[in-house]
Amino acid sequence: MQRKQFGLHDVVQMKKAHPCGTNAWKVIRMGMDIRIKCTGCDHSVMIPRLEFERKMKKVLIHAEGEPEA
Ligand SMILES: [Zn+2]
Repeated sequence: MQRKQFGLHDVVQMKKAHPCGTNAWKVIRMGMDIRIKCTGCDHSVMIPRLEFERKMKKVLIHAEGEPEA
C-alpha cells in the first residue's frame, strides 16, 4: 500500500466531510498527533497520525515551498 504524502499547511480532503458541509482541512500541526482545521468553519480537531492517514482521502493543495511559520 502506498503511503500518503502530506505536510504542514497542506489542505486535505477526508473520507467524511465535516458536518458544516466543508471537506477541506488544513494541516496546522504535525507530530504523533495531527491537528487539522476545517477551512469552512475554523473548527479544529486533533487526531492520531495513523487514524489521520486512514481517514484522509487526498491532498487538495500541497503547501510545499511555503516558509515554515
Ligand atoms: Zn467545518
